[in-house]
Amino acid sequence: MSSFNRRSFLVATGAAASALAMPAISFGQNKPRVVVIGGGAGGATAARYIAKDSKGEIDVTLIEASKQYYTCFFSNLYLGGFRDYASIGHSYDGLAVNHGVNVVHDWAMSVDGAGKTVALASGASLPYDKLVLSPGIDMKYDSIAGYSVEAQDTMPHGWKSGSQVQLIKAQVENMKEGGTFLMVPPPNPYRCPPGPYERISMIAHILKQKIQRQKSL
Ligand SMILES: Cc1cc2nc3c(=O)[nH]c(=O)nc-3n(C[C@H](O)[C@H](O)[C@H](O)COP(=O)(O)OP(=O)(O)OC[C@H]3O[C@@H](n4cnc5c(N)ncnc54)[C@H](O)[C@@H]3O)c2cc1C
Repeated sequence: MSSFNRRSFLVATGAAASALAMPAISFGQNKPRVVVIGGGAGGATAARYIAKDSKGEIDVTLIEASKQYYTCFFSNLYLGGFRDYASIGHSYDGLAVNHGVNVVHDWAMSVDGAGKTVALASGASLPYDKLVLSPGIDMKYDSIAGYSVEAQDTMPHGWKSGSQVQLIKAQVENMKEGGTFLMVPPPNPYRCPPGPYERISMIAHILKQKIQRQKSL
């Protein structure tokens, strides 16, 4: 999974250019419609249980940008070499097949609360009766002078899983002798209070193994 935000989604899909050509998407027209924006741990769980507990009486649509969700939880075990990358990735197939959730891989651009529709980057729009917003966090890139969407590919922020964690792992594993690793835990409250401490322990573990390997050469 590459690092994702609204801008990279639009560039990758060419969605802005095709916006005018797209029709409205309509699922389950005779049933109450719930639309969930964001298929992370929060949104996917909401979609799953609304679909399951309503026993098919509510039409549930999940809008999620990525086809594969890489969890933050367990990502530090991947970092330390205790789990493989594939084990922290999850597809949306189970939600569709086992629970009848309509999974739409698209970027929700805006919500019209009065008209009860969600506009998608592809240009389509989705009507709803109830809306669940679960888009997780995003970066304020310009809150740090010099930081940007592009800079995250050389100086990972690590707040999201997927390519950000892969990059941290590769950088630590390839660190040259005498290199410096700098990590800045943010002030509370933040996404995962133990996260930075788990992460730094795993990084120490990688570096210790690296030094032991070098000594034994
Ligand atoms: C390093 C680290 C370790 C962690 N470890 C743990 C742990 O061990 N246990 C634990 O309980 N928690 C842990 N957490 C916290 C946990 O990962 C988050 O609380 C959880 O991911 C929040 O889920 P969410 O669904 O709100 O957001 P997210 O998981 O961020 O999911 C949001 C989803 O919404 C999608 N999205 C966003 N905007 C749009 C849009 N406009 N259109 C379409 N899709 C959109 C994104 O693509 C994404 O898939 C950890 C966090 C970090 C950073």
